[in-house]
Amino acid sequence: MASSSPLILWFRKDLRLDDHIALIKAARSGRPVIPVFILADEGSPYAPLGAAQRWWLNHSLEALARSLEQKGSRLVLRRGAPETVLAALAAETGANVVAVTDLPDPAGRKEDERIAGVLEERGVALHGFGGLLLHDPEKLRTGSGGGFRVYTPFWRALNQQAAPAPPRPAPDAWTHPARWPESEPLTSFDLLPRKPDWAREFGSHWTPGEKGALDRLHRFTEGALKGYAVNRDRPGIDGTSGMSPHLAMGEVSPRRIWAAVEERREGERNGPDGEDIERYQKELVWREFSYHLLHHFPELATRNWTPAFDSFSWVDDPAGLEAWKRGLTGYPIVDAGMRQLWRHGWMHNRVRMIVASFLIKDLLIDWRVGEKWFRDTLVDADPGSNAASWQWVAGSGADASPFFRIFNPILQGEKFDPDGTYVRTFVPELSRLPTKLIHRPFEASLVELRAAGISLGSTYPRPVVDHRFARDRALAALAELKAEK
Ligand code: FAD
Repeated sequence: MASSSPLILWFRKDLRLDDHIALIKAARSGRPVIPVFILADEGSPYAPLGAAQRWWLNHSLEALARSLEQKGSRLVLRRGAPETVLAALAAETGANVVAVTDLPDPAGRKEDERIAGVLEERGVALHGFGGLLLHDPEKLRTGSGGGFRVYTPFWRALNQQAAPAPPRPAPDAWTHPARWPESEPLTSFDLLPRKPDWAREFGSHWTPGEKGALDRLHRFTEGALKGYAVNRDRPGIDGTSGMSPHLAMGEVSPRRIWAAVEERREGERNGPDGEDIERYQKELVWREFSYHLLHHFPELATRNWTPAFDSFSWVDDPAGLEAWKRGLTGYPIVDAGMRQLWRHGWMHNRVRMIVASFLIKDLLIDWRVGEKWFRDTLVDADPGSNAASWQWVAGSGADASPFFRIFNPILQGEKFDPDGTYVRTFVPELSRLPTKLIHRPFEASLVELRAAGISLGSTYPRPVVDHRFARDRALAALAELKAEK
């Protein structure tokens, strides 16, 4: 028999109603449902990762509250230690069950176990449900029973499983409490930057919230999915889905994305081909793989996966680091990427690889410094993908790109931004340079620079480091590491 005591639906990084298993179960229970979001202290696995994501969270909570209100419900906002807030809310409302979507990272899971224990002592049960990943990182194993270290066999193993279950729509209706508990105002969370408002351009590029996510997904499957396999590597083209910040806050489920892309397989003759679809799904599975690695190595963001890297001779270069962060390295593709990050809180994947390689190999700065900066500045900051990708570029990770593969920022720019569209967008002071010089302004003659309105060292910096010198230095550091072994 259904209990009449209320049920608390605790939202964390699952800010949606669509394909939300915990919500479906809560609705089915027949109990009055009290949706709550708790702003946990910084550093808690429940908190957003950095400043850019706090901006996102603010708007995403507004959107979630609106969606709930359309269903006759509300979003109760509270702040503090989750176990204290939940216990108080349970005592206040008579609830004895809290339903949540399980977090996919080990720190979140560990914290959930602890909180479940605290709540249990007060007679409140914490019930977790899946929904943030396509697979359970605990369940997928190699033939010998361990975790995967290499992506391709992981992809194959995942493919051999049954296809992801179809996404489930939000329930039409559920029971609401007769009396609503008090909610704090969203403004008291103080999530938005002020003085300076460095996020002022984010809003023209992104629409946080479930509707923004689903609209964008629709635009992508109807548009750029066709040609994705080729265009995904071209930062000057709007050729990727932009799903990452929506996924990071759980505004759309990976099952919903998978299904939307699959649907296009059966589409009209002019639609995306199988290669576009498979390529896209493979990228989504990189996200899964990153969580799989994190599951088996919870210190992925702080410790080298390959311990040999522990004695690498990183350089302390505050001036180089500052130039990198500001997008003033003198290498146009690097600067364009770092400025896109400032302006949109996001950066194209190809350029993330280039700027990460530049920090690690040209400046010889420890990859963890870059991981931390990205965590603070990306709207899609993700504990799995960010840590795994930085270790991948550094060569210290599982299935990583070897350290000796050092990106040449000029050639990378010329290959992936051949007409300079990307650089011209984000480094406008170079926009009048002819295409043959757009990725190498330091090779332009004085006449060419003057014609483009550039004064090197004044309106645009000279390179902070000579790439050839930097490459030799990096390889020497690697050789030293090998000699030590
Ligand atoms: P699409 O090309 O449309 O891909 C679809 C989805 O697949 C993405 O939304 C994402 O969920 C997943 N995906 C794509 N590429 C990767 C990848 N290489 N690794 C893991 N998942 C991937 N991604 C994050 O979501 N958060 C991060 O914090 C993050 N940090 C990164 C740091 C570095 C140094 C690098 C090189 C990559 C990082 N990535 C991160 C991966 C990737 O750059 C982004 O997922 C991608 O650019 C997001 O844009 P999109 O949604 O348009 O991608």
